[in-house]
Amino acid sequence: MLPSRAQDVVKKAEKTIADLASPEFHGRGYVNDGLKKAEAYIAARFSAGGAEPRFQAFTHTVNTFPDSVRVSLNGKKLRTGVDFMVHPNSGTSQRVFESIVINRNNFTDIDLLRNIYQNDLSRTHVVVLDPKGITSPDSLMEFRAMALAFANNLPVVILSSDKFTWSVLPDAYRRAVIEMRDTLFTEGMSIGMNIHNELKRDFKSRNVIAVVPGTHRKKKKKFLMVTAHYDHLGRMGSEAYIPGANDNASGVAMMLALFDHYVQQPAEYTLVFVAFAGEEAGLVGSKFYTENALYPLEKVRFLLNLDLQGTGDEGLTVVNATLFPDELKMLTAINDREDLVAKIKVRGEAGNSDHYWFTKAGVRCFFTYTLGGTKAYHDVNDRADQLPLSEFNDLYRLYVAFLDGL
Ligand SMILES: [Zn+2]
Repeated sequence: MLPSRAQDVVKKAEKTIADLASPEFHGRGYVNDGLKKAEAYIAARFSAGGAEPRFQAFTHTVNTFPDSVRVSLNGKKLRTGVDFMVHPNSGTSQRVFESIVINRNNFTDIDLLRNIYQNDLSRTHVVVLDPKGITSPDSLMEFRAMALAFANNLPVVILSSDKFTWSVLPDAYRRAVIEMRDTLFTEGMSIGMNIHNELKRDFKSRNVIAVVPGTHRKKKKKFLMVTAHYDHLGRMGSEAYIPGANDNASGVAMMLALFDHYVQQPAEYTLVFVAFAGEEAGLVGSKFYTENALYPLEKVRFLLNLDLQGTGDEGLTVVNATLFPDELKMLTAINDREDLVAKIKVRGEAGNSDHYWFTKAGVRCFFTYTLGGTKAYHDVNDRADQLPLSEFNDLYRLYVAFLDGL
């Protein structure tokens, strides 16, 4: 059998990432069936390789923004996800408000704060929190906490000069909360908000699983698992979506590349591929899997979890590296011998992706993510055209040699 040519592997991955990160998939979240479409896409790829996909359903609660996330200043429309970002816990507020500014000069003014709390201003006013000049981390944290304490009473705007980083959360305030570029707002401006949230309880997500049977009489009764989450953050209303090209269309593309490889050239061990849902919502899909494993966890020889595989110019981080020195030694030996990625960075345990619950359950595993390249993360700029995929083929070769060496 001829090995897949490098450019074919990368070309196919490019297409997979462009598809999964396209507007049609709505950020693979909880609005417009984005997650469902991604699930069907991955299942179809498994089927095309001759592996009947299995599904594992679970439910969780998510705060969503299904229709409108619009904000204006003095009547001028702002760009959703660029000029402002809706807070993942935001509730609903839909009208034009006058602003009450709270900043470093007045945030200890008890009378002012009490006045805001005690009067029902929810139909007329928005609180604008301006943290400028508050430098100590403790004071900043206190200031932010105070900001959010208002959010069940009246809408809140938090001014910020930081990069917007979005997430998915399972609860919501009553009123709208947004973060806004601090350069846009000046005191006295009116703020128009048309922000509508919907807390979806018992949202149904599904993990997608495929198996490629092993060839060795004994080893085929044990498993190698390759996993990657396919969910992302979904939409900020009809106005913006978070593409999630690096996070984690790239990891899904790598997992599917490995699936394609092992369909062509089965390993001695049986390979189990799992595309997890619910990762961004708090690792709920992988938690559910470890509690309801389709293949016994004690028979898993090793698990490789892939997230953020789109760059690699500065190398690769291996989480759990210090827990499994033998496997790390093998991985670095392959990398040195074949001259693949620039550097393998060793990291200890971390609860930052789906491998976490497997580590807890005693399954030997690594989680790898690439370093360097794009800074886009959990924002509107994590697009397919931003990803160099410069190391994708080297990473692919590294993983195949690693899995074959186990
Ligand atoms: Zn991720």
